[in-house]
Amino acid sequence: MENKFERSLVLLKPDAVDRGLIGEIITRFERTGLKLAGLKLVWSDKDTAMQHYTEDLAQRRGQHVRDMMIEMITSGPIVAMAIEGVEAVAVVRKMVGETEPKSAAPGTIRGDYAHLSFKYADENKVGVFNLIHASSSPEEAEVEIAVWFNDFELQNYKPAYTKHTLVEKN
Ligand code: GDP
Repeated sequence: MENKFERSLVLLKPDAVDRGLIGEIITRFERTGLKLAGLKLVWSDKDTAMQHYTEDLAQRRGQHVRDMMIEMITSGPIVAMAIEGVEAVAVVRKMVGETEPKSAAPGTIRGDYAHLSFKYADENKVGVFNLIHASSSPEEAEVEIAVWFNDFELQNYKPAYTKHTLVEKN
């Protein structure tokens, strides 16, 4: 079956796994009708982390942030997911909320499960604990999914619930 929908790469970072929030966060995505195309628990090596947190992050946020994030993402197991649906990248980002938990709106994952500020994280020399990564554009999603998944780890299938969440002929 051919995949006709957009996919987003989502990572549940070590703080989410360590806090036992895997199930709760996945449930939020599932109940919107978004579909899991790929799902696995991995402990990233530094090379993979560097392919994920690229030079672009250093350009946007500073080299120190890139270094802290590579350190953080390799510090424990993470959950990698490819989440699929109609305009999935934007929908997932909406549910994730703003980067800084202090500013993330209630109802978003970062707003509901975290509260730290950039100031506090910077003073303590850690990437701000905000639980989750989500691709910021469809183009970025394609690149990021290829970092974390082989083709054979991504499934094309049609769960019964799509009868209620999508137009039937899809
Ligand atoms: P995202 O797309 O919302 O995850 O944000 P970015 O791609 O810009 O940043 C990647 C990650 O780096 C964020 O999720 C934060 O965990 C961390 N981060 C970003 N900016 C800062 C900062 O100014 N200070 C600290 N301590 N961490 C940051």
